[in-house]
Amino acid sequence: MTTIADRISIAQSQIAQAAQNCSRNSEEVTLLAVSKTKPITDIIEAYQAGQRCFGENYVQEGEDKVIALRQDYQDIEWHFIGPLQSNKSRIIAEHFDWMHTLSRDKIAKRLNEQRPKDKPPLQVCIQVNISNEASKSGVSPEEVSQLAQIIDDLPHLTLRGLMAIPTATEDVSIQRQEFAQLENLYLVLKQQYPSVDTLSMGMSSDLAIAIEHGSTMVRIGTGIFGSRA
Ligand SMILES: *Cc1c(COP(=O)(O)O)cnc(C)c1O
Repeated sequence: MTTIADRISIAQSQIAQAAQNCSRNSEEVTLLAVSKTKPITDIIEAYQAGQRCFGENYVQEGEDKVIALRQDYQDIEWHFIGPLQSNKSRIIAEHFDWMHTLSRDKIAKRLNEQRPKDKPPLQVCIQVNISNEASKSGVSPEEVSQLAQIIDDLPHLTLRGLMAIPTATEDVSIQRQEFAQLENLYLVLKQQYPSVDTLSMGMSSDLAIAIEHGSTMVRIGTGIFGSRA
């Protein structure tokens, strides 16, 4: 039977292979293990296999897991990657290290106010709606620079980069086009803000193309923890 540890090492070698194919250093790419809906025992198993960065999508579930594990696993880095309503922002500000899905100035300001002053700034990525689907969350490419400026002015947030969920398609040319667009936006932002070093894009199915286009963080759930109910 394949274990969580096996699947993490498979994901790590896929990252290494993809990085090698485009002459990048695989250490530039972080594996984010997406543990949404999975039990704490799975997170501990992944931790024991060396995994340190975990992504959660649901505010309440994420809070419960952070609280349950923070004492014994202090070096876990918790990433919030789900949609956030402004009335739940305090939970993210108080419990998470990273927030990948920031797309509104109002939420940025709330997170800044609610971030406990004894913690390091919340590390944030702006979510970009690269597919331009009205149903998807995220700012349009044109709106990135305005939101980036607002975040950069907030002392309890650190702007780290961009995140995107591209169009769900098997069409590699559409994937490439979207990733290339995101890469360009990222490079412009990085020139403007020294704190920017993160491009959160790529999942199991499109990891290689994402890495080819500069991804520094790939988010993998099912590939590590198995399918969700
Ligand atoms: C669930 C999720 C993932 C991981 O998806 P899998 O199909 O389980 O690998 C990655 N990114 C985001 C934003 C997600 O919500």
